[in-house]
Amino acid sequence: MATPMAYLRGEFMPLEDAKIGIMTHGFNYGTAVFEGIRGNWNEEQGQLYLFRVRDHVQRLRLSSKIMRMALQISDDDLVAQIHELAQHSGFREDVYVRPMVYKSSEVLGVRMHDLDDDYLLYLAPFGAYLDPDAGARCMTSSWRRVDDTSIPARAKVNGLYVNNAMAKTEAQLSGFDEAILLNQDGHVSEESGENIAIIRDGVIITPPPQDNILEGITLETALDVAREHLGLDVLRRSIDRSELYIADEVLMTGTAAHVTPVVEVDRVPVGDGQPGQVTKQLQDRYFQIITGRIPQYLDWLTPVYSDSIVSA
Ligand code: PMP
Repeated sequence: MATPMAYLRGEFMPLEDAKIGIMTHGFNYGTAVFEGIRGNWNEEQGQLYLFRVRDHVQRLRLSSKIMRMALQISDDDLVAQIHELAQHSGFREDVYVRPMVYKSSEVLGVRMHDLDDDYLLYLAPFGAYLDPDAGARCMTSSWRRVDDTSIPARAKVNGLYVNNAMAKTEAQLSGFDEAILLNQDGHVSEESGENIAIIRDGVIITPPPQDNILEGITLETALDVAREHLGLDVLRRSIDRSELYIADEVLMTGTAAHVTPVVEVDRVPVGDGQPGQVTKQLQDRYFQIITGRIPQYLDWLTPVYSDSIVSA
């Protein structure tokens, strides 16, 4: 039977048994960094494919470095442990893996130094996050994206996500699906858990890292597909709010959201208000890639089950 599993303090265990103390520094002050990795189920092949695990592990290490935290395991070993976690969990559906490096000391006091670092992993089943077919209705948030001068924006810092959570809640309570955050300069940065891109005259345009985006792995994948498969030019430059209103297409990318069309921004329809054609092609190719249907991209995938487990 499939069971969500965790890895905590050096041991695999059922997720329900994985507990930390209430004084844990990372919980009290948000002093932790994390990743989100998807496992995508392919029914015909009876296989679960983890997507770009090594890239997520590398980003976790960079986030840790920025935050002066030690990730005390090699990339190879962590990739192997994530694989093992998925095997132990045994799901035959889409899943999500959460690796986290956190300040594990149970002491009071705001700081990053003189504290213990540890890491943990857990896995849970996870279906669609946003509707990939209907697309998302988005609003420009009244909250600005946190600036790199306040909290390192290119690191996935747990505490930073208060910014994203406030924006997401504002959007949902206002009747929208997702929030678009502007940065302190007023340029479009990203959404609460996704990068954003627009298409104008056959060019895919997306903000540069210095607009305080998280350097997304799904975005990088989508840009690769846009170039290689659709022959689009890719442009990295700042985007204004009003440019979203006149773009041919708007889309967002993220581990949870995959490639999702944006059909409305601030109640202005994007194009004719239907998911864009280029976005649909990108999305289609992306789904094929992450479910192991395109040989050229198999290097990005970690098949969880050996044949014997699949046929069992
Ligand atoms: N921006 C934010 C704020 C996110 O949380 C995420 C999800 N990790 C992304 C962008 C997209 O990044 P990725 O494609 O690597 O999941």
